[in-house]
Amino acid sequence: MQSLFNSAIFSYLKFIYLFIFTLAPILAKADELANTLQIHSISEETKSIKKHRLKKLIEHMNSGQENLKHQCRFESEISIPPTQKKIYLTFDDGPEPGQTEHILEVLNKYHVPATFFMIGEKVELHPSLVKLVRQSPLASIGNHSWSHPNFHDILEEKQVLEIEKSSALFFQITDQLLFRYPYGNSSCESNQLLKSRNYKIIGWHIDSCDWAFDHKGSVDLKEALSCGVLPQNRNNFFQHVISTVQAHNGGIILMHEIHPNTLNQLDALVQKLLDDGFSFGILGEDESKVFFH
Ligand SMILES: [Zn+2]
Repeated sequence: MQSLFNSAIFSYLKFIYLFIFTLAPILAKADELANTLQIHSISEETKSIKKHRLKKLIEHMNSGQENLKHQCRFESEISIPPTQKKIYLTFDDGPEPGQTEHILEVLNKYHVPATFFMIGEKVELHPSLVKLVRQSPLASIGNHSWSHPNFHDILEEKQVLEIEKSSALFFQITDQLLFRYPYGNSSCESNQLLKSRNYKIIGWHIDSCDWAFDHKGSVDLKEALSCGVLPQNRNNFFQHVISTVQAHNGGIILMHEIHPNTLNQLDALVQKLLDDGFSFGILGEDESKVFFH
C-alpha cells in the first residue's frame, strides 16, 4: 500500500515536472504563435486597405483635369448650402428603446417632421419601434448601414455587403432611398453602388455634437474642432445647436437617438427654432433634392 502511495506521488511529481519543463513551454509557444498569426492577419488586412487607397489616390492624381470632373469623389460632406430658414431634423443610430418614443412625442407635440437613419441590426432587434416610426406621418426612415462600420476601415467587399444586406431589409420598411454613412465616411466604390440603386446620400450641415456633449455636458477642444463648436458654446449643447443653425440659416441637423442627456433638450430646441421662424422639412420629399450630390 505504502509503495503504491509512493508510486502515485512519484507519478504526480513526474507529471508536474513534465508539465513545467516540457508541456508548458510548448503550450506557451503555441499561444504566442496563434497571437502572432492573428496580428499578422489583421495587419495584412490593414495593409491591403491602405494599398487599395494609395492605388486610387495615384490614379486620381494621374488623371487629367477633364477626367477628374467625371470621376467619383468622396461625398461625405454637404456641398450645397442649406435651404434658407428650413430645418431638417435627423436622428441616427436607432431605433433605441425609450429614445425613439421620446423623439416621436416631441415631433407630435410641435407637429414637425424628422428622418430616422436606422442601423439594420437594430431594426431587426426592435421591430415594434420601427413600426411606431412607420406609423407616424411625421417620420421617414433612412438606411444607416447594416452594422455601422467606418467605411474607411473596411474592404470594398465588406462595404458592398453592408449596403446589400441593409438595402434588402430597408426595402421592406420604407419606400425612401436615403443613405447616410456611419461617421459620414464614404468611398467612391460604395457611392457608385448606392447611386446605381438610386439612393440619395445624405450628410448634414449642423453637427449637434450630441455624442460628445452627452457624457459631461461639455466638449473638449478636439471634439469642438471636429463638430465646429464655438469656444463660447463648449459647455452649452443647446446654444451650440441654436447658434450653428442661425449661422447657416437652416439646414440638416445631425443628432443621435442614443444620447439621452442631449435628447432631453430636443423639446426646448424645437420650440426655440419655431420661435425663431424656422420651418421643418422632411428628407426624401422634393426639397431634399438640394442635399444630395
Ligand atoms: Zn451613426
